[in-house]
Parts: sequence; structure tokens; C-alpha cells
Amino acid sequence: MIKNVETILVDIPTIRPHKLSVATMNTQTLVLVRVVCGDGIVGWGEATTIGGLNYGEESPQSIKTNIDTHIAPLLIGMRASEVGKVMNKIRKIVQGNRFAKCAIETALLDAQGKRLGIPVSELLGGRVRDSFPVAWTLASGDTSKDIAEAELMIDKKRHNIFKLKIGAKPLEVDIKHVLDIKKALGEKVSVRVDVNQAWTELQSVKGIAALEAGGIDLIEQPVKAEHRASLGRLAQRFAVAIMADEALHGPLDAYQIATHSAADVFAVKITQSGGLIPAMQVATIAHMSGIALYGGTMLEGGVGTAASAQLFSTFTDLSYGTELFGPLLLTEEILTEPLAYSDFGLSVSNKPGLGIDLDIEKINFFRRAQGYSDTIQAISV
Ligand SMILES: [Mg+2]
Repeated sequence: MIKNVETILVDIPTIRPHKLSVATMNTQTLVLVRVVCGDGIVGWGEATTIGGLNYGEESPQSIKTNIDTHIAPLLIGMRASEVGKVMNKIRKIVQGNRFAKCAIETALLDAQGKRLGIPVSELLGGRVRDSFPVAWTLASGDTSKDIAEAELMIDKKRHNIFKLKIGAKPLEVDIKHVLDIKKALGEKVSVRVDVNQAWTELQSVKGIAALEAGGIDLIEQPVKAEHRASLGRLAQRFAVAIMADEALHGPLDAYQIATHSAADVFAVKITQSGGLIPAMQVATIAHMSGIALYGGTMLEGGVGTAASAQLFSTFTDLSYGTELFGPLLLTEEILTEPLAYSDFGLSVSNKPGLGIDLDIEKINFFRRAQGYSDTIQAISV
């Protein structure tokens, strides 16, 4: 039986300002969800988002309010081991709220994996890989700082795929920034851009032509999410891969984008998809349509990153790698044992559930004051 559902906001400073076309982040607010089951098993999920309402329609505060007020009461008393039934109930009653649903589903799958003694990947059909590449996002806003940061990452064997956040500055300035970085890093390194919907189609035509000529590998969401036909025309016009990100809010979007040949690559995100199972469906649609996959992030901390890793390990195609670097952008680790980054990639845990343990003291230290109980108690299983 599900006994208790708790949503915890944890504010953690980032290692440097992270500049997107829609916002500059100095802190990331992790939205953690803890589900306590009658058999003593505890499951964790995460519903972290980027830049609040600048990026999407759910904010950390709205996610917490909606889980605490509307979703948790639906769960209490249901069988924790019946993950499908619980999620079906929530999906029937609650509209939208994809991030909140993802956190709940993740926590239930974590608990179920622990209950059965198997990793979440094995609940999702089974992993086909134990590790995968992880890209790093260069978003300091300064060309020479970005080059120095990339070179340090290559030296440390942490990352050799780099994504640049552009779109906030004039097109020519952005293009020069990207091409200067590509030139400095050379052929062996993959450089990609994320425009975060900032360009019109005409700006995109001009921008992508220059980026393609300069050896850039991937162009992420150049135009607005709702301008699907525009994204499709760009995908058909250029040889360089065009990726849908903000345009993808779950399986229905995936189906419609695939039907209209409106992207070459999907950025699959568990939160944007509304959970691990819908994210798996997005991947299935991609496989069936010849669309390549990239494992995306909402800059989650250790919980959401571990959950994404469990799912992405089951993808037969992951040709563009992943960007599961969220925990590395934060100054504090909330897991007792950090995720295993090495050799330009991330190894997926083999332990039951998500394969992680949380540092409750750390969470309590950085937890946002709630006006009521400011600390949570460690629960031993
Ligand atoms: Mg993106």
C-alpha cells in the first residue's frame, strides 16, 4: 500500500551561470518526490525543470502544489506494486502535469525494482547497454571561457561531445561563437547547438547553412515548438540533423512529428514525456519511423538522471548519445554515492530500483523552507 507521498524542493547552486535563450540559471531547484510504501520500501522520483515558466508550463512550486494537493490523495491506499493501475488512474484524472506524473511513476518503479531486487531497466524490457556517451553543455556565454571549459573536459575524459546554447544574441554573433569553438576543438570533437526555439524559419535557414558548412553535427529545436511544419521543412532542406526537443511532449507529439517527417532526431526526456513508460513509447515511435534518438535532460539531479539512464539503457538506438550531465552542473551531490561518469560516458547502475541512495542530511540542508516541517527523517528499509 502507498502510505505517504512527499514533494521536496531543494535549491542547489550551479557551478557557473548556465545561460539559455530563455533564462540564466544560477541555482537549480530539484523537485524530489518520495513515496513510502506499506512494506517499508521507499521509492524516489524527480520532477525538476529548467528556468521555471520561462521554459515550460510547470514550475517547481506548481509541481509541488499539484502533487501535494491533487495527486498524492489519489495514490494513498493503492497497491504500490500495481504501478500500471496507479499511473492509469492518475493519467485518467489529472490533465497535463507531465513532470509531476513522471516523478510519481519513477518513484513507483524505483520501489518496485527494490521490491523485486532488479534494476528499473529490467522492468522496462531490459537494458541493451551498460553505459553511453554524455555530452556537456557549454553555456557560460563567453567564447574563450567555453573553449577552455571544453578542453578541460576533454583532458579529464569527461566529455567529447559539446552542445552550445544559442539564440539569445544576434544570429551573426551566435554563429561566430559556435564556429570559433568548433575550429578550436577540431574534428575529433562533436559540436552541436540548441537554439531553444529562438529563431524564425528564415533566420534558421541562414543560421543552419553556416553551421552545417562549419561542421556542426546537430541542430536542436531552432524554431518554436508549435511550428512543426517549419521544423519539417528545415529537416528536409538540410543534411545536418535537425532535432525536436520542446516540440516533443510525449507519444502523441512523437507520432505527429514522425507522421509529418518533421525531425531527424528526437530528444527523449522522461519528464517532458510524462514518465518513463510514455518516454519509452516516444522511443518506439522513433524506431518505427527511422528517427534517431538522443537522451535528453531537464538538468535533473541524481534521481532523475539515474531514472533517465535506466530507460536510455534499454534503447536499441542511441546514436546521438545523451546529455545526462545534470548532477555535474551542481555544486552539491545529493546521492550518497555519485553516478559513475568516466571515459566520456555514464555507467548505468545494476543495483535494484534506480540503484541510488539519497543523502538525507544534504537534502535537509538545502531544502527550501516550507513553513511547516523543514526536515525529513531518514527511513531505513
Ligand atoms: Mg533543448
